[in-house]
Amino acid sequence: MMTTTHSTSRRSDSGTKHLQGGDHMPRVRKTTRQFEKDKATFFSQCKTRHAVCWLCGMPIDYEATKNTTDDSFNLDHLYPVSKHPELQFDPAGFKPSHTSCNRLRSNQDPPTPIGTLSRQWITTA
Ligand SMILES: [Zn+2]
Repeated sequence: MMTTTHSTSRRSDSGTKHLQGGDHMPRVRKTTRQFEKDKATFFSQCKTRHAVCWLCGMPIDYEATKNTTDDSFNLDHLYPVSKHPELQFDPAGFKPSHTSCNRLRSNQDPPTPIGTLSRQWITTA
């Protein structure tokens, strides 16, 4: 007597896997994706215009990879993200800055308008 108990007919788990991956991801991801896009657009715009660092008024090295050297481009925000997280993804608040300047600024309020200020203030920090 052959007991062929093939249980291949009980394939109940197929067809339900595609439900995963849609709901457990935070909704922020969508915004982040757009944020990356906006950042890239902003960078190319700054590069085209040769925009200077909004913190010290000096030219930015757009040839350097972002955030790698002191003179490389770094996306700064008009209002510190730590104080205004809701504005982080708002392109209207994007500002071109040096990596070093942005680092030194940390989360301070916007500096006084560029004019009398030179790069001098950086060394005092
Ligand atoms: Zn700068």
